[in-house]
Amino acid sequence: MALPRSFQNLVENLTILPGVGEKTAERYVYALYEKEDDDVEALAKALINFKKNIKTCAICGCLSDETKCEVCMDNSRDKSTICVVEDSKSVFMFEKTHKFNGVYHVLGGLISPIDEVNPDDINIVSLVNNRITEDVKEVIIALNPSVEGEMTSLYIQKLLESKNV
Ligand code: ZN
Repeated sequence: MALPRSFQNLVENLTILPGVGEKTAERYVYALYEKEDDDVEALAKALINFKKNIKTCAICGCLSDETKCEVCMDNSRDKSTICVVEDSKSVFMFEKTHKFNGVYHVLGGLISPIDEVNPDDINIVSLVNNRITEDVKEVIIALNPSVEGEMTSLYIQKLLESKNV
């Protein structure tokens, strides 16, 4: 006998997540079956609420519930130091250390010819054109030491040099 259709449907929807294969998804569904209705409803609401409210900061591109993120809105942050990172995940990792008081710029990816990701596909232009002003004293490029990371760093460095930063 096949799994009930509603069960199978939920399994298929869960397997869109990274690291969740059919076995893991089935385990989650059995676990959800054991939960109270309220808990499952809260989970469903949280999923919808997240997708409805989450956006990227209009300034730095980091994930935020507001149009501008907390860091960009914080006047005590040093706006003359910009840390360039690959993704929002990196921002929240840096923030956990409480050691950086500057602001961020999220690229939203790395240049990768193999995956056909060109400089235009990530937020490089907005960095160089909008963020790098006369007030900026330091740009820290904090990307992965992978081939793509190095390539992206070099590309940004060259652009900054041509802007005399
Ligand atoms: Zn921001």
